[in-house]
Amino acid sequence: MARHRFEAYLDKVFGFSQLVSALPEGRLSPRHPWQKVFDAVFLGAAMQIPSLLQIEAECQSGALAKRVGPISDDTIGYALQRESPESVFALGCEIARRLKRNGVLRSDWSRGLLVAAVDGIEICSSFTRCCDACMQREVEHKVRGELRTDIQYYHRIVAVVIVSTPFPIPPGIRFQKDGETEVACAIALLRDLVAQLGRRFLDLLVGDALDLQAPFVNEVERLGLGWVFTLKQNQPDLLHEAERLTTGPPASVQSESDQELRWGHLPPVDWPVAARLVRVVKTVRTDHQRRVAVSQDGSHWKKGKSDVALESTNFYATNFELGAVPPLFIHQLSRSRWRIDAEVFQTITTDCHLKHAAVHQSTALVMLTMIRLLAYTLSLIFYQRQICSHARRSRLTFHEFAKRLAYWFVASSGDTG
Ligand SMILES: [Zn+2]
Repeated sequence: MARHRFEAYLDKVFGFSQLVSALPEGRLSPRHPWQKVFDAVFLGAAMQIPSLLQIEAECQSGALAKRVGPISDDTIGYALQRESPESVFALGCEIARRLKRNGVLRSDWSRGLLVAAVDGIEICSSFTRCCDACMQREVEHKVRGELRTDIQYYHRIVAVVIVSTPFPIPPGIRFQKDGETEVACAIALLRDLVAQLGRRFLDLLVGDALDLQAPFVNEVERLGLGWVFTLKQNQPDLLHEAERLTTGPPASVQSESDQELRWGHLPPVDWPVAARLVRVVKTVRTDHQRRVAVSQDGSHWKKGKSDVALESTNFYATNFELGAVPPLFIHQLSRSRWRIDAEVFQTITTDCHLKHAAVHQSTALVMLTMIRLLAYTLSLIFYQRQICSHARRSRLTFHEFAKRLAYWFVASSGDTG
């Protein structure tokens, strides 16, 4: 059987099959070794197959029949529940390390800094299906037209995603425990990542206003990271002080045809609840839009266009020493945070079925989610570097490419060489 292009690439760049064969076996003398189960789930996830039953069907007589061979969805679920999430987490970190060594994480705008964003997402919410590790809450909802209150089960994961790169790369996720805050979960994830990747792997962390809390900021600094977080109402004293100090004219202005950006950089501002000073950057963006307006002229209504200026003000707090770097850089850093939601969370939930619990059992769900994330990352790297960069004409979408992967397996099974 000819080697599949995708797997040949992963072996050449990451030595991937060797890394997978080194994963520990969690079951005693299993009929199907862990590597076979892992391959079934990983390749199934790379093809963006939503359910274990469908993976079973592909292994039985579909695209994975020659490559993996028969295995039941029960066997896959049983194995996922008993293998070690830590080893798959470490595998994800090893991939990130090799990406950095190969220069894939370089970017042209971030001044040599590796910037990561942190954010959370909810998955697998259900009123009926739950497991030992579920979080729960009371929710009012309509059942057959009647409003009632029920317990809803759900999971939340926190992800750290490298966003300074040409395409975002998530080195790791962590499931939030019941009763644990998102910030506590993010701290635990960052500690695990730094333990695996070392203190000098990431340079800067960007996050939203919820991350701007003294315990989180202190921990991020203890891990040797710089940070840029949005400053909003949840830190009223700091915001008030920043507003008071920026009533004067902006330090700099940048204008384009339909947009104007003004910004200013403050001297260190006192942050009383954290008993420290932080740096603050303020930006004011004005978007000029032409809108259709309808007005009355005597007995007639007429349509006309008028200019509308939409203004939005943002404050960012940071420990980054700007030196000769313009404060606009802080604004750019903070904007890069949107990629975690707009690109990563969007794709892994719509194309890669992350919200759909193909197996809803504590450890099995963690394993499935981690393997899906790894499959997303590696298939995205292959897609970006082998498909997009070589395509001259009509380019496949990421989803079309995933379906093409399945076809390649069928095609390479037909070879006798
Ligand atoms: Zn659950």
